[in-house]
Amino acid sequence: MIKPPCWIELERAAFQKNIRYLKRRIGSARFCSVIKGNAYGHGISSFLPLAEGCGVSYFAVFDSFEARRAWEVKKPTTELMIMGYIANGDLAWAIGEGISFYVFDVERLRNAVEASRKVGKAARIHVELETGMRRTGFEEEELQEVIKIILNHPVEIKVEGICTHYAGAENIANYVRVNEQYEMFNKLSERLRARNIQARYYHTASSAAALTYPHTIMDLVRMGIAQYGFWPSKETKMYNMLSDDARFTVNPLRRGLSWKSRVMSLKWVGPGKFVSYGTSFMTGKSTRLASIPVGYSHGFSRSLSNLGHVLIRGKKASVIGFVNMSMFLVDVTHIKEIQKGDEVVLIGKQGKQTITVDSFSEMASHVNYELLTRLSPDIPRIIRG
Ligand SMILES: *Cc1c(COP(=O)(O)O)cnc(C)c1O
Repeated sequence: MIKPPCWIELERAAFQKNIRYLKRRIGSARFCSVIKGNAYGHGISSFLPLAEGCGVSYFAVFDSFEARRAWEVKKPTTELMIMGYIANGDLAWAIGEGISFYVFDVERLRNAVEASRKVGKAARIHVELETGMRRTGFEEEELQEVIKIILNHPVEIKVEGICTHYAGAENIANYVRVNEQYEMFNKLSERLRARNIQARYYHTASSAAALTYPHTIMDLVRMGIAQYGFWPSKETKMYNMLSDDARFTVNPLRRGLSWKSRVMSLKWVGPGKFVSYGTSFMTGKSTRLASIPVGYSHGFSRSLSNLGHVLIRGKKASVIGFVNMSMFLVDVTHIKEIQKGDEVVLIGKQGKQTITVDSFSEMASHVNYELLTRLSPDIPRIIRG
């Protein structure tokens, strides 16, 4: 077998466990798996079929390029929705393939009517409502026009969803804002209902909203980070640990992604020598260095220079000097038995030790999302189990 410089392993059982747990938490609502950002770094083409195997049949992507990658690997009956960008010309493709998509401006709604006529198939739309995030979504004043277009084109337009997104449900500091958004969503969707516009799915919840504000679950949950085994924030985890409906002592979510490489070469360096580019690290004593064929081009952040750790032979080894584009060095003086070709764990478990995604940085909150999505799509993904 030809061995790549590094690879990502996905552990099937972990995702099975997460999805089963989260499905139980959302009751009868539809589980929609969010796979934007290359399935949060897990790889769309590996993760989607794995999730299908766990009984997931609805997926959400951000753009029509991701939709094409998902479309290539999905089962014919699996449903897809695009929550954001759609390239010119892809609207007709999406409609033709029965892929639903967000509509957040009148122009896209008009284009959908036109493309539907061309394709000879109804466009399945999600009407996104502006409720307070002020990113995308129809303002209250625009609804009159939206209602008119939808009612005038019952053949071309089918309302699959009415939806919104909360501005930070993973942080209790946003409690008032989230609740105001919830109220606003109900008010605006009521206005649509009063004009006889109803959706198959009313959906507002992401992982954090579903796990913290159960009333936001409605008909469908757009589940992202939690299905990959990460709590959206420490707060969300604490809240769930202590709350009546979810109390737990053993974390019910499991991380199924490991990132591994191998020792490329070994070298002894005497005391008082600068290591790697520049002068950021000088040896204090005779030091043994291992080079690892992974760098910032793979997603191993340069900010881990002189800070990060990896696992080799069950022991922690510190990153020495700057992380380069395609490799970095670690201090392995204390790992006497080390050999060229030894497995290196960048994220995941080895022996009794674990390197978590969080440990990559001390920054709070969104760091998991960002670090995961930086994992290069070129790294091979291997499914275990
Ligand atoms: C990314 C995203 C989600 C999923 O968010 P998580 O916090 O990962 O669960 C849901 N809805 C929209 C619109 C999104 O962009």
